[in-house]
Amino acid sequence: MWEYLAREMVLLLRQIVSINSSVTVLVLLIVFASIVVDLLLQRVQQSAKATGIVLGGSKTKAIGIDGTRQKPVKDLVSEEVGLAGRPDAILREDGFMIPVEHKPMASKLRDRYVAQLLVYLRLIEKIEGVRPPYGYLILGPNARRVKVTNTRQRQEWLDGKLNEMRDVLNGKSAKADPHPKKCASCRMRELCAFRADLPAKVKNPEGVDT
Ligand code: SF4
Repeated sequence: MWEYLAREMVLLLRQIVSINSSVTVLVLLIVFASIVVDLLLQRVQQSAKATGIVLGGSKTKAIGIDGTRQKPVKDLVSEEVGLAGRPDAILREDGFMIPVEHKPMASKLRDRYVAQLLVYLRLIEKIEGVRPPYGYLILGPNARRVKVTNTRQRQEWLDGKLNEMRDVLNGKSAKADPHPKKCASCRMRELCAFRADLPAKVKNPEGVDT
């Protein structure tokens, strides 16, 4: 009888030890996995701060950074508006999804950068059903941050540009609109039918250029 009970006790203890060790291993794996995930997400957040996408110390959360495996950015596509694109990052600020476009070589703000950001803003509104109030452009090597508000006037301006592009796609001839300063130093200017000339200098009565 005592021998039987001792054998049963040993068996029971072995089972408990084996269950405990499995549970311990599982718990350790879960803890380890969450530490790794946390470190990877911290790294993404740090690299986002380094590029100027996320401001240090802010409560902004990067929910997508293009080119990362941990938080990739998905293509934004809307058949309804006939647009598609993928911003360099998407942030969460005050409950809004905020697109970010990074232009590391940009020396100044240009219309085409604003147009690109406005497309992302419109796509997010179509897909999420909530209009983001603004987006960010990060310009130049110093990561200058420009906040572009998503106004009705700007979206109307974008519509005008999109309509011009659709007209060209439908066969209308494209109209070049070069900046005269660019044409002034362009090597093709003598052959180019679209060149824009700088305004002629006006001479005052004393013959001094103004
Ligand atoms: S001259 Fe012609 S090719 Fe050169 S910048 Fe002007 S429009 Fe462009």
